[in-house]
Amino acid sequence: MTAILGWGRYPIVDTEMIRPRTMDAAQRATVRGDQTVARGNGRAYGDAAIGGRQTISMTHLNRLRSFDAEKGVVTVESGLLLSDIIDTFLPRGLFPYVVPGTSLITVGGAIAADVHGKNHHQEGGFGEYVESIVLAVPTGETIRASRDEHPDLFHATIGGMGLTGTILEAAIRLRPVETGWIRQRTIVAKDLAAAFSAFESSDSVTYSVAWIDCLARGAQLGRSLIFLGEHARSAELHGNALANRFPVGRTPLSVPINAPAFALNHWTVAAFNELYFRAGARKAASPVLVPAHPYFFPLDAVGNWNRIYGRRGFIQHQSVIPTQNAQGTLAEMLGRIAKRGGSSFLAVLKKLGAGSGIISFPVPGYTLALDFPMRGDLFSFLDELDELVIAAGGRLYLAKDARQSRTTFEAGYPDLSRFREIRRSTDPAGKIKSRLSERIGI
Ligand SMILES: Cc1cc2nc3c(=O)[nH]c(=O)nc-3n(C[C@H](O)[C@H](O)[C@H](O)COP(=O)(O)OP(=O)(O)OC[C@H]3O[C@@H](n4cnc5c(N)ncnc54)[C@H](O)[C@@H]3O)c2cc1C
Repeated sequence: MTAILGWGRYPIVDTEMIRPRTMDAAQRATVRGDQTVARGNGRAYGDAAIGGRQTISMTHLNRLRSFDAEKGVVTVESGLLLSDIIDTFLPRGLFPYVVPGTSLITVGGAIAADVHGKNHHQEGGFGEYVESIVLAVPTGETIRASRDEHPDLFHATIGGMGLTGTILEAAIRLRPVETGWIRQRTIVAKDLAAAFSAFESSDSVTYSVAWIDCLARGAQLGRSLIFLGEHARSAELHGNALANRFPVGRTPLSVPINAPAFALNHWTVAAFNELYFRAGARKAASPVLVPAHPYFFPLDAVGNWNRIYGRRGFIQHQSVIPTQNAQGTLAEMLGRIAKRGGSSFLAVLKKLGAGSGIISFPVPGYTLALDFPMRGDLFSFLDELDELVIAAGGRLYLAKDARQSRTTFEAGYPDLSRFREIRRSTDPAGKIKSRLSERIGI
């Protein structure tokens, strides 16, 4: 047995770990599965990638199988990391259409969570750019699925959190880019209303994300920095960037041990937020060129940054609130967080469009991601936030979840019957089970 955990370091669970080295072995492990689920690079925060009894680690299946230069479509084994795709293809002028806040995730994990980036409002999620998948299902078949072949299974697998089978291989369309630089502009918003109007007036910009100071209260509630970005064209490069059209990623620093829990408290976080806000505001005057890597994946430069929250770990609460209710509900949530003084270190706001899969997380609206160190009354406080989310017609992101109740899940994802039916057809004996699926009853 091996003790495994998600990125939030909660929960820690003993599981039998199976590490196939070939597609056949991964297929056999799926068919023989005893409460099993596939696992990528373990960047889901909670218990999504932890099997009920067994877990199939896909990281050895990390080969690039073929590349169609004309269509810009790359076919890979599902355990390949996005960072490997970027390192290989960015110097050739191609970049994934959708990247989340870390490049250290596998293609299988990106599909299973239908991950979103800063461009979801414009370009949709990762699933939109998946041409086809090869899926091992517990009944013994290996099925090629796409929008034309087995479309129901295809759409259940995108965002299906590994519960329809093990993705062995996938064909992904890449985006042509002229450079590896992003032209970034920063907007300073003095409160939440200003942040919302900045998002609405920047709707046509490809990438947008806001960093919110969660400790700001009263008239400053929701004060934010909004970062807007576009892929820079060759003609826009100057200075250093001109000499280095495709800059490479940075060598990671590392947090080697669990930080003591007192490292993060109201005062350290407040000081960090103040400095960050002032530094961002100073840079807001004019657009800057930023290499793609630090623009998209700033935290990848600090290996194991999750240890800063100490031995007990942390919980990320990520919800999406439909557009019409977003501003009011987020103001209420931020007000309660500021009042509690809960040291939410990272608060990130993005605009989402519709999801690609049957139970994909995104719905048109605004998504807020909040990190909370694990402490005394945290779960009951998060239950309160869940109530606000559900009352506003929203839902929580399963890739970040470690504790929502089955009732909250079912209220947030009312259209589960189709997903459950597809799952029964590929797994009638119930061999696939993760700690997440057990907890939320799916
Ligand atoms: C710093 C950081 C920033 C992040 N930012 C974002 C963001 O901006 N947007 C966003 O959407 N997400 C974000 N995430 C979450 C992350 O992108 C997802 O959790 C992603 O699914 C992790 O991929 P993984 O390879 O680590 O998969 P794991 O965490 O190992 O697994 C995640 C899910 O995918 C399933 N799975 C994995 N491989 C397979 C396979 N081969 N076949 C079938 N199912 C499989 C697992 O069963 C599990 O349900 C972030 C995570 C971190 C740590």
